[in-house]
Amino acid sequence: MKAGFVGIFGKPNAGKSTLLNTLLGEKLAIVSSKVQTTRHRIKGFLSKPGEYQIVFSDTPGIIEAKYKLHEKMMGAVKSALEDADVAILLADVTDDLESCDALFQSLHLKVPVIVVLNKKDKVGKEVLQNAIHFFESKPYAKKVLAIAALQQQKTDELVNSIVDFLPEGAPFYPEDELSDLPTRFFVSELIREKIYTLFEEEIPYHVAVLVNEFKEKEHLIKIQADIIVNRDTQKSIIIGHQGNKIKEIGTLARKDIEAFLGRKVFLELFVKVRPKWRDNDLFLKEFGYH
Ligand code: GDP
Ligand code: MG
Repeated sequence: MKAGFVGIFGKPNAGKSTLLNTLLGEKLAIVSSKVQTTRHRIKGFLSKPGEYQIVFSDTPGIIEAKYKLHEKMMGAVKSALEDADVAILLADVTDDLESCDALFQSLHLKVPVIVVLNKKDKVGKEVLQNAIHFFESKPYAKKVLAIAALQQQKTDELVNSIVDFLPEGAPFYPEDELSDLPTRFFVSELIREKIYTLFEEEIPYHVAVLVNEFKEKEHLIKIQADIIVNRDTQKSIIIGHQGNKIKEIGTLARKDIEAFLGRKVFLELFVKVRPKWRDNDLFLKEFGYH
C-alpha cells in the first residue's frame, strides 16, 4: 500500500482546479477563466483500496499578496508545500515557459517534482516537444508529462507516475471518502462560482459566500446563504434589475448543488454589505479563510 500528500502548484489559470476535478471524477474545486478563483486549499482523496491513496491539495495560484485575503491564500499554498510528499508543478503549455520555470525554482522544493504541461490540446506537436525538452533539462524535474486536464488526456499516466513516487504507508483517510472539507464549504463554493460566471471584471473579487443554514428535511435540503460584498453599489449589481441577477445565481447554483448532493434543494440567498471584509481578520475567519 502506498499513501501520501500531493500538492498541485502553479500560476493562476494553469488548470489546477480542473485537474483535481478530472482526477477525482467529481466537481470539488470551482473553475473559471478568471484568475484567483480558488481561495482555499482544497483537499481531495483518490483511493484504490489496497493499492494507494493520494491526498491531493489544489491550491490558489501563486500571486503577490495585496490584501489580507491574499495572504491567507498564500498561506494555503505554503501549508500544502510543507506537507507534500510529491509536488505537481502545473504549467499552461501556452504560457511563457521561462517565467513558469522561475516560479518553480523559487519554491525550492525538496520532494520529487513532476512537471505537468497542461492544455496540450491547444498546441501542435512541435511546440509540445520543445516545452517537454525545456523542462526535462531542469534539475528539479524528476519527470515531465503533457496532459489536457479538461479533455482527460493522459491523466491516467499522471496518476501512475504519482503512485511511483508515493511513499509506502497506510491510508490517512477512510478509503470511501472524497474530501475532508464539510459539505457546507462545497455549497458556498458552488454559489461563488456562479458569481464568477455571471459577472464581469471586478465583482467576483469583492464577493464571499457564507452558508448560514443547511437543514435536511424529508423531501429536500433547505439552504440559506449570504453573498457578502464590500459596497452598496456591488449589492445592487448582484441583485440586478427587479432581482433578476440574484435569481439567476440562485437557479444555476441550485442545479449544481442538487447534482453535488444528489438531493432536491431549496436555496435562499441574501446579499449583505460588509465594508472592507477582505482586510478584516474577523470577517475572514467567519467566511472560512483561516
Ligand atoms: P486554476 O486557476 O489553475 O485552478 O485553473 P482552472 O482549473 O480554474 O482553469 C482555468 C481555465 O483553463 C478554465 O477556463 C479551464 O476550463 C481551462 N482549462 C483547464 N484545463 C484545460 C485543458 O486541458 N485544455 C484547455 N483548452 N483548457 C483548459
Ligand atoms: Mg483554481
